[in-house]
Amino acid sequence: MIKTFDVIIVGAGGAGLRAAVEIPKEYTCAVISKVYPPRSHTGTAQGGVCAAMANMEEDSWENHAYDTVKGSDYLGDQDSIEIMCRDAIRAIIELEHMGMPFSRNKEGLIAQRYFGGHTKPEDKNNPNGKRVSVKRACYSADRTGHVMLQTLFENSIKNQVTFFSEYFVTELLMENGVCKGVIAMEIATSEVHIFQAKAVLFATGGYGRVFRITSNAHVGTGDGMALAYKAGLPLEDMEFFQFHPTGLWKLGILVSEAARGEGGILKNKDGERFMIRYAPSVMDLAPRDMVSRAIITEIREGRGIRGSDGTDYVLLDLSHLGKKVIDEKLPEITGFARTYLGVEPTTEPIPIQPTAHYAMGGIPTNANCEVLMNEKGDTVKGLYAAGECACVSVHGANRLGTNSLLDLVVFGRRGGKAIGEFLKTASFQEVRHNEDERSREMIHNLLNRSGSEKIVNIRTELQNSMMEDCGVFRTKESLERMIIKLGELNERFKNISLQDKSKVFNTELTEAMELDNLLKTAEATVYGAYNRTESRGAHTREDFPLRNDQEWMKHTFAFEKNGSGPELKYKPVVVTRFQPMERKY
Ligand SMILES: Cc1cc2nc3c(=O)[nH]c(=O)nc-3n(C[C@H](O)[C@H](O)[C@H](O)COP(=O)(O)OP(=O)(O)OC[C@H]3O[C@@H](n4cnc5c(N)ncnc54)[C@H](O)[C@@H]3O)c2cc1C
Repeated sequence: MIKTFDVIIVGAGGAGLRAAVEIPKEYTCAVISKVYPPRSHTGTAQGGVCAAMANMEEDSWENHAYDTVKGSDYLGDQDSIEIMCRDAIRAIIELEHMGMPFSRNKEGLIAQRYFGGHTKPEDKNNPNGKRVSVKRACYSADRTGHVMLQTLFENSIKNQVTFFSEYFVTELLMENGVCKGVIAMEIATSEVHIFQAKAVLFATGGYGRVFRITSNAHVGTGDGMALAYKAGLPLEDMEFFQFHPTGLWKLGILVSEAARGEGGILKNKDGERFMIRYAPSVMDLAPRDMVSRAIITEIREGRGIRGSDGTDYVLLDLSHLGKKVIDEKLPEITGFARTYLGVEPTTEPIPIQPTAHYAMGGIPTNANCEVLMNEKGDTVKGLYAAGECACVSVHGANRLGTNSLLDLVVFGRRGGKAIGEFLKTASFQEVRHNEDERSREMIHNLLNRSGSEKIVNIRTELQNSMMEDCGVFRTKESLERMIIKLGELNERFKNISLQDKSKVFNTELTEAMELDNLLKTAEATVYGAYNRTESRGAHTREDFPLRNDQEWMKHTFAFEKNGSGPELKYKPVVVTRFQPMERKY
């Protein structure tokens, strides 16, 4: 049976739910999510959401925009960045009015803390002089994403949104550049459903699970990106994947940058505060790409600490902050250190290592979240994307901490608004009753294949190889190895078989579909990285250590070409106020 709604939103994280809140009540709106909505990854965000509120000290949206552009290593589109930073203050007040419980300062205003790469001029009369860290991140202890997601979930229910929880979207329906709906499988029964809609918004989150060490939840498998890519749409700037400097050693579970924002210090095996050598002015609060490179460099040069399993780490010391600050402001993450590593953060430093964290790239959109079908800027009618799965390019080559939650609420709302406008004149496209045949066949095939390969082995090899050969540091040779590996893994994927053949809540089946999606996102990432012969933001080529503005002030657009690796095209970066400069902190 065909289910029909004016709007379908795929994804119930911050971006999807903020869009859902915005859909005018006279239209029907359904949110489809493969997990129960409050379990979306947004709920794990810890540190904060930024805006130049100036509640603690002087600040301005222009400072925020400057930092975001510089943080992006000049790859962010400055028109979109300006929209986001100008709108940030309104967006925070709106969240407050929706009921989000922020932490407060002494005056009762929303409290703000330091975060990496957020700065202001030391002397406001000399905007080009030395810059110092500024308190710009609004927060709710270290559970900011949790309370944001709960607030948006409540408001979506109030807005009479229909939820399809534990439905897995398997296909994007498009015809002649017009979107007409999606296909989804109900996980409980493996039943396939056709969803027809005038407008579809993808808010499916990131794909950190393509790497072995990651802060991302198990569901972060890039499904939305892969579905767009398989439908012939491009993926933008996938070579830029952020490694967060402080994941718990071996596990990758995130220790928020808020820990350093509150005064935590990184140390090597000699007890040295090594960031002083890499970013003398902001030190531990340098942007993430720089801190992650610094940590790996310390380890490579023998100043890491060797663990019992032969892998290395450095230390994050919070002990000098005192029990009161730790218990009040960092309760969750210090709890993780106790539970998972048996370390007591009030008296001992925490072993950490960089962890794959955030996709700067994704499905290309314009500032109204309309999906681009090519590098020329033509849009797909009726298709929108927002949040981590999208690339409106506010983060460029490296995202600043707390800018993602902001991106979700600013662009989630803009997507919802744009859909509201579109619906005034939009109509349903014809959907055939057998439109679900491809997905049915794919599922039938996966359940009935009798190959010799297990998905867990292919996934583990993919994650290990991506970590080694397409991680923080890359070279031509490592990427060539990765390209060969991907070819091999894609071949082996054709020869898998599932142990669980049942149709009832078959998680092995969803894992197989997720693995297929991970292989697709990996392809766009690796080829983009191979072609980009420069180092910029999170993409570090040891064989091309410098940023090359002459040739590479452009976004990568990767189009799937069956089998032989993607076709890569390029789109110039939008520069408005801030000319590229050397990036020093
Ligand atoms: C541990 C951690 C801490 C973080 N802390 C911060 C922070 O303090 N500040 C900050 O700004 N950013 C932070 N980030 C980044 C930020 O939280 C994420 O980028 C953001 O929450 C992503 O939100 P989203 O709405 O795009 O997607 P998500 O919240 O990831 O939600 C994705 C949704 O898509 C659905 N979905 C996916 N695929 C399918 C499918 N095939 N079918 C149906 N549904 C599907 C899922 O069910 C889910 O509902 C953090 C990230 C992590 C991992």
